[in-house]
Amino acid sequence: MFKLPLQDGHNRLVSYVRISVTDRCNLRCSYCSAPSFSSNYREQILSYEEIVRLVRVLVNLGVDKVRLTGGEPLVRRHIDSLITRLNDIVGINDISLTTNGVLLEKLADPLRDAGLRRINISLDTLDRKRFKEITGRDYFTRVRAGIEAALAVGFDPVKVNVVVMRGVNDDELLDFAALTLNSPLHIRFIEYMPIGVSSTWSGDKVVTGAQMLARISENLGKLEPVVAESGGPARLYHLPGASGRIGVITAMSNHFCATCNRIRITADGRLRPCLLSDDEFDLKKVLRADGDPLEIVELVRQAVAGKSSEHGMSCNAERKCTRLMSTIGG
Ligand code: SAM
Repeated sequence: MFKLPLQDGHNRLVSYVRISVTDRCNLRCSYCSAPSFSSNYREQILSYEEIVRLVRVLVNLGVDKVRLTGGEPLVRRHIDSLITRLNDIVGINDISLTTNGVLLEKLADPLRDAGLRRINISLDTLDRKRFKEITGRDYFTRVRAGIEAALAVGFDPVKVNVVVMRGVNDDELLDFAALTLNSPLHIRFIEYMPIGVSSTWSGDKVVTGAQMLARISENLGKLEPVVAESGGPARLYHLPGASGRIGVITAMSNHFCATCNRIRITADGRLRPCLLSDDEFDLKKVLRADGDPLEIVELVRQAVAGKSSEHGMSCNAERKCTRLMSTIGG
């Protein structure tokens, strides 16, 4: 039972866990937004000890890849110490982190020293005024400095995630794509998903990956597919002569559920087999009961066994996830 790999009911093996280390965030993005704080917050979220214990169990089930996310993972104190501890677990081959970059300029070095090798930074606009409108904070220059710091310390690759929203930032598609001409950045355009602040999402705000690629090709030159490199869920391309990469993540128009190998752990310790489904399993309760690791194994297996074959959302979807992205971890 313990050593058998984690396989779901659709013959997919789970080898990748995304862990939200906090649902707090130092930005207030209009479409994502962090929840308000509660007084017993530290009790509610998994401790680093609990996260490490959980990952040790998952490694025994075949998980070899961890991504830390949030909320904003860099607002949690001593996040580098968690990375060091995860890095020490035999069987973990890849640790990555998704951040808004606000605190990255200072933390890039300690994160690299702790064993982090690659990083994703979210940035939806290249315009300072618009950044403030979208995020509620005037931190654009900090994020740009964070991206520079990430490149300077040698994270490879440095991926920039852009959620493309029609009428909000889709006029910047070409400016973002052009960044790849002279820098090794991977610019990844993400289709806007019906998750989070549901009042801001509507199907007509989704720009599909195909539409993005057509616009870039028409204006900046023919995009060449990059097949030899794995872009995770992103399909990768490059512009002629460019050092960077352009990726599209088409969760809405052309989902990649058939190859999904991941599970998510929310900051409050719930296992979510699928980002876009509200099914959750309470791991925190089992972890805190301090029982047999087999109980954790059993719950994880039960969760994975029931992982749905596809998320079932589309641009015409009525169904939306009720959880905020900041509480699940993007
Ligand atoms: N604070 C970190 C950050 O900003 O990268 C990690 C958490 S954030 C929730 C992770 C990613 O989810 C960000 O790139 C964010 O833009 C994305 N995201 C949030 N809501 C989304 C939505 N409705 N559709 C697509 N991506 C979304």
